[in-house]
Amino acid sequence: MNANGAVSAPPYNRTGVDFQDVPKRAVSISVIDVHTHTQKPHLTAEFIRAADAYGIGRIFTMAPLEDVDALRAAFPGRFEFIAIPRWQDVSSRADFFRIWHKRIDAFYEKGSRMIKFHMAPGSQKRFGATLESPEVKEIIEHAYNLGYHFMSHVGDPKAWFGEDAKYKPSEGHMTFDEQFAMLDHMLEKYPDRVHMGAHMGGSLEDITSLSRRLDRFPHYIIDSSATKWMVRAVANQPLERLRDFFIRYADRILFGSDLVVNEKFNYEHYLSRYWVHLKLWETNSDGASPIDDPDAKDGRPMLRGLHLPPTVLEKMYRTNALEWLGAKVLRQPLE
Ligand SMILES: [Zn+2]
Repeated sequence: MNANGAVSAPPYNRTGVDFQDVPKRAVSISVIDVHTHTQKPHLTAEFIRAADAYGIGRIFTMAPLEDVDALRAAFPGRFEFIAIPRWQDVSSRADFFRIWHKRIDAFYEKGSRMIKFHMAPGSQKRFGATLESPEVKEIIEHAYNLGYHFMSHVGDPKAWFGEDAKYKPSEGHMTFDEQFAMLDHMLEKYPDRVHMGAHMGGSLEDITSLSRRLDRFPHYIIDSSATKWMVRAVANQPLERLRDFFIRYADRILFGSDLVVNEKFNYEHYLSRYWVHLKLWETNSDGASPIDDPDAKDGRPMLRGLHLPPTVLEKMYRTNALEWLGAKVLRQPLE
């Protein structure tokens, strides 16, 4: 309740949508979500309920190593695991990399074949490392030698870069272009591995450079995850141009939500993300977004749908994941 005694809207539902009333999908297909962060089964159960409601079948997760066996047992056949470090181990930089190296072996033994590098400006500062630091290069090489494919998050919303923004060069942050130059070096070095760029390769606000990267590196694919960011990036651009981009690169875009399982989130929160993604990709809706966004233009988050053709949706929702992550990464059929 606010100071006037009125009940304030939760941040995941400013507009009072009934997320449990699932809109009819434009394609009838079991959707594969390639980007989530789940954890212990008792917390993940509510997320799974939301995934079930929205026709999400197979799910790729960046769950902690310690939760892999329990998640497999609780939700048989539902999850694939992307290797991540133990983020909590940052007290000693040397220990962090030593432990990460060992965990790559452990994830591999549990069947992981893709490793995620979270190298956004904030994490670079936190770990004192970039994609080009010797310690990170060692990790990349070790993963490569085991047979891993790659996933990365190198960029953040473009508006966050600059002297009057969050990532100031004067405070030691790299520019947007410098971040992506490091990604390009990695893409050049490992052309024989699939590389999935999280959050539309961190570049939905700059589809000219994103197109160039996709054209130059045929092993580079991108996921549609990060709900607020994607909603904002779509709303702030000419829709026809973006729609053309999605049609042109239809074989390279995979559906991801970036849903994070946490005890502070409830069923409605999880539903809200899938509802918004459905509206964003499948419909031509044009109005207020139910999800709060502090970065929205004029403080008013808008949800404008791209209304993608069914053939594009089928690829994005399922067949691209089967083709890229099943055949090429897991080397086994993905259902
Ligand atoms: Zn994520």
